[in-house]
Amino acid sequence: MKRANIPIRTCIGCRHKLEQNNLIRIVCPKGESLEMQESTKLPGRGAYVCRSKSCIQEAFKAPKRINALFRVHLSSSVINEFKNSLLEKEIIADE
Ligand SMILES: [Zn+2]
Repeated sequence: MKRANIPIRTCIGCRHKLEQNNLIRIVCPKGESLEMQESTKLPGRGAYVCRSKSCIQEAFKAPKRINALFRVHLSSSVINEFKNSLLEKEIIADE
């Protein structure tokens, strides 16, 4: 069944508004780590970023911004590690 209403979300990298299914959802379980979520149906505070390296680089450039977004205090090494793991994923485009 096709859903008529695809939610629109803002990429935290380029700030463009896109259909949610074109974006990667990032969550911060228990405020301790960052995780990428394939399913967008799970509840909780989420952030969205395009499947592109430049958006991921931009989104994670400032750890403070990520922390503000999720209202947490992650160390920059946790944030950088997550960024690098995202950049290695096959679904990420090179542009
Ligand atoms: Zn983007």
